[in-house]
Amino acid sequence: MMLALHILGAAKGIVPDGTGSRCVVCGASPFAALRLAGKLLGPNFSDYDALRDPGATHACAGCCAVLGGKPSKTDPPIRMLQVVAVPGEPLRVVARADFEAYLRRPIEGPHVLVWNDSMKKHASLRAGISTGDELRIGGDAGMVVYRPAEDLPLLDAVKELRGGFARRDIASGEYPPKKIAAFGRSRWQRLEGVVAARRPSYLLDFLIGTLAAPEVDATNTEDDMPISDTDRTAAALVRAVANNAKVNVQWGVFHSGIARKRLIQAAASRNTLPDVVEKFAQYLDCTGLGMRDAVAILETLTADEETDILAALRARPAMIATLAAERPE
Ligand SMILES: [Zn+2]
Repeated sequence: MMLALHILGAAKGIVPDGTGSRCVVCGASPFAALRLAGKLLGPNFSDYDALRDPGATHACAGCCAVLGGKPSKTDPPIRMLQVVAVPGEPLRVVARADFEAYLRRPIEGPHVLVWNDSMKKHASLRAGISTGDELRIGGDAGMVVYRPAEDLPLLDAVKELRGGFARRDIASGEYPPKKIAAFGRSRWQRLEGVVAARRPSYLLDFLIGTLAAPEVDATNTEDDMPISDTDRTAAALVRAVANNAKVNVQWGVFHSGIARKRLIQAAASRNTLPDVVEKFAQYLDCTGLGMRDAVAILETLTADEETDILAALRARPAMIATLAAERPE
């Protein structure tokens, strides 16, 4: 039986050896045994429930290519990426912002879609084989089943709500009244009606997590809320760290919300700005030379400016992370 894992293995360039093997990950594999099971499934492996043959001694070459690999800028492992695999084609790495297109205009024939969120689990293990009528996307917490014919209205509703509300508002159904007023009550009611019918579900969580807010008119935002020098400098610091992080912005650090989450954690756990920056850098694996830009900014600040920036990072981390994700002027 052809599995999503086998399509992914082939997309990584692994070729069936004609004999196949018994594989701890995928069970009956078309690929040769390559490594001892324990060598592939190291101490950090946490997806034991997804193994198809837990008693097997070896992992096949395909599963080693799909699950293995160390964090790297040039050849990051699949668990750090969003990927699409089509039989007969090399693996496509998809930017987080571009994944939506595969939901709106699905590939017709069999293919495999993988959305890694935490980068600690192997979403590949939970992918099924998708077709144009039914997408069976591998996610961190399970398989997301998305049927465009039925689910496109939900996608559109979440997308539109993202223009006025935070992800947690939509996920919880608890919307701040002020934001409802700004968004428009009847528009909100109509969209929330579509969402409420599907809450809670993994598909809804997935769409909330994957869909970026619609593009906003930059001039409008600036009119609404002038950005202070403090916030600009805070954003420059955040950008300096994230741009030089091993877990690079290229792999969607900002858009995945990792930068925002880590920034909130760092600001809450440290008491001075340099310590917050250092902690944030540790979280993103940005050290040594990569820290140069951030240190250069820190060196220009007075004690009062440091205090103001620290306060801003604690009060408006999401806004500052968003600002940092935009291109500097
Ligand atoms: Zn295998």
